[in-house]
Amino acid sequence: MGGVADLEWVAAVDAIRALGPDDEVQLICHVNPDGDALGSMLGFGLGLRRLGVTRLRATFPGRFEVPVPYRELPGSELLVADEDAYRNPALIMIFDVAAESRLGDLVSLLPSAPAVIVLDHHASNTGFGGINLVAPRAAATSVVAEALLSRLGVPLDAEIAECLYVALSTDTGSFKFDLTTPEVHQLAARLIATGISPAEISRRIFDTRPFGAMKLSGEVLGRARLDVTAAGGRGVVWTYATTADLEKYDQKPYVLESLIDPVRSVAEADVAVLVKEMTAGEWAVSLRSKGAVDVSAVAVALGGGGHRLAAGFTGRGTPEEIVQQVKDLLDVNLTK
Ligand code: 5GP
Ligand code: MN
Repeated sequence: MGGVADLEWVAAVDAIRALGPDDEVQLICHVNPDGDALGSMLGFGLGLRRLGVTRLRATFPGRFEVPVPYRELPGSELLVADEDAYRNPALIMIFDVAAESRLGDLVSLLPSAPAVIVLDHHASNTGFGGINLVAPRAAATSVVAEALLSRLGVPLDAEIAECLYVALSTDTGSFKFDLTTPEVHQLAARLIATGISPAEISRRIFDTRPFGAMKLSGEVLGRARLDVTAAGGRGVVWTYATTADLEKYDQKPYVLESLIDPVRSVAEADVAVLVKEMTAGEWAVSLRSKGAVDVSAVAVALGGGGHRLAAGFTGRGTPEEIVQQVKDLLDVNLTK
């Protein structure tokens, strides 16, 4: 797999094979976990179970609330709140995390751990693990997870496959995005061959939402603004959602995750921005490009990260101020 040195694969396999029957293993994925974070972590966790690892927990930093679409994932019984993570595990495995800042307080577990394996696919990954399985050309972290399971000799079964399929299909936008290579479809074929139902999984993950979430999306999309002169004439379209919006429709923040998709479909803009209020004055910002600009450069400049065409950061101020910062950086990046 492109980007991962053979030595790193060997080190990862050795670290897992060296585990004793009583050794504790802690799995961690990023804050505000998405389909790839949870799917690759739980799918790999089930694989470790098949290898006989019994002292196994999975967690993510922050509020212990799994987005509704992912609550039925196989392996969910491994999930614990971050304060219930093993304090001194023999092995820590980290999924879909490009930088330590995405680990919250759980970062304090790393220095004393005998082994830390990072599985990721972000080009911006800082290499903070002891063993780094980072494949920037992989469409999802689940691609890396499956490659490691294969090297460990763990066969795919329907439970593992469901987790990895959710991860793969969410991070590729249902096999539509950049990096949807022949290998991605070959992996999907191997997963489907275990007997899972892509139709049922897709309906649950992509095509089911509460009535209030649909009404909320109408309001948020209704206030979108288009600036065709921004980004050197490539255009920026943007909108925002506040905690008050969520309260009005009695919805949880996860319902906003997919809202960037209709925004990014706007023909007149290369760049789409969705500004989501997390707490008062603090916003999670999603950036997307159709291909003309590198939005990860903007995200990194503002303290975040991500991929060339999909990135994010934490913003402060008003949505207008945050979007202005993005536009200013786009202008700088396009003219240098
Ligand atoms: P999304 O907009 O779907 O939340 O995230 C898009 C991409 O940007 C993902 O690959 C995600 O890992 C990355 N990303 C989003 N927010 C942040 C952030 O605050 N910090 C970093 N480092 N990456 C982020
Ligand atoms: Mn991912």
